[in-house]
Amino acid sequence: MKNVLSNKILAWYDNHKRDLPWRSYQGFQDRIYKVLVSEFMLQQTQVKTVIPFFKKFIKVFPNLKKLSKAKLDKVYKLWQGLGYYSRAKNLLSTAKTVQSKFNGRLPADFETLKSFPGIGDYTASAIMAIAFDKDFIGIDGNVERFIARLFGYKNNKKKFKNSILLKLKEIKSEKNFSLFAQALMEMGALICTPQNPKCNICPVIKNCISFKRKDFNYKILNKKKVNIKKYYLLYALKKNKILFFNSKKKLLQGFVNLPLIEYKKNLFDMNFKKNSFVFSGKPKIIKRNFVHNISNIKMLIQIVLFKRIIKINDNQFYWINYNKIDNSLLSSFSKKFIKLLRTKNIKYV
Ligand code: SF4
Repeated sequence: MKNVLSNKILAWYDNHKRDLPWRSYQGFQDRIYKVLVSEFMLQQTQVKTVIPFFKKFIKVFPNLKKLSKAKLDKVYKLWQGLGYYSRAKNLLSTAKTVQSKFNGRLPADFETLKSFPGIGDYTASAIMAIAFDKDFIGIDGNVERFIARLFGYKNNKKKFKNSILLKLKEIKSEKNFSLFAQALMEMGALICTPQNPKCNICPVIKNCISFKRKDFNYKILNKKKVNIKKYYLLYALKKNKILFFNSKKKLLQGFVNLPLIEYKKNLFDMNFKKNSFVFSGKPKIIKRNFVHNISNIKMLIQIVLFKRIIKINDNQFYWINYNKIDNSLLSSFSKKFIKLLRTKNIKYV
């Protein structure tokens, strides 16, 4: 059974694999570098979203040496639109360490890989298998779903993940680790899809327990608790300029942010009034339900318009010309707000 299953999966992959840009390489080091970049980009992001970003990135940074010499803002710029910017920072930091401490060669060692920022168990396993052809398998959502359905596992017990891992060890190919790891991911992505799995063209349909049971639900949903946080977004204008600020929060550092402060019952309780800038006229709430989601945090934002800022006392604040905003590296909520300004035409309320 072991070889029968793995051979079927490998044969299917050989005939149907997608032509992805990180699967085309010139030489071993090029392959390793492309796998490294793609694995960072694919964390929490779909393949089709990643492809154009990957191509652009590789054009600018064709190898690890070139990337290791890059400035963070240039890497951020190429990452703009892909989200989760910590990945860009971690990738750059990994490239710098590999260049300086490992002579530019990514080490083929699971524990060393995990010591780099942004590389956890999954990414280290995926790199070990795909880049180095070692006996590892990265179990992502695609692989988990495919194996769970194939063997009729339900995600309702603590040992679910362990059962998947044990089963994979049982059926895995004894060689071609790189191809097998990619074949499993591709099966989940293209055939054993979350909705409407394509069983009629599945190479392992005869072995599939879910197909026999006609029950493809393997997941008992465990909904993540959503935290709601309330904020004011300060929208201040001066001629053609909008007020921005440098945030000290780690997540927002390096980005251009609209001033965001935590909600207090009384808008005028905010200490920025005395300390940060002086304004005249009454601030006006122009939108109450601007919603922005980050991971499991739901941000409920009230937009407050300040028509006249007289003086800025805090050098965290600065002006940017409205027409030049697109040249700036905006944080995701700032970008969303600027889009709102443009579409709803609330620039000068
Ligand atoms: S037969 Fe259907 S459910 Fe079973 S592994 Fe193939 S695609 Fe998935």
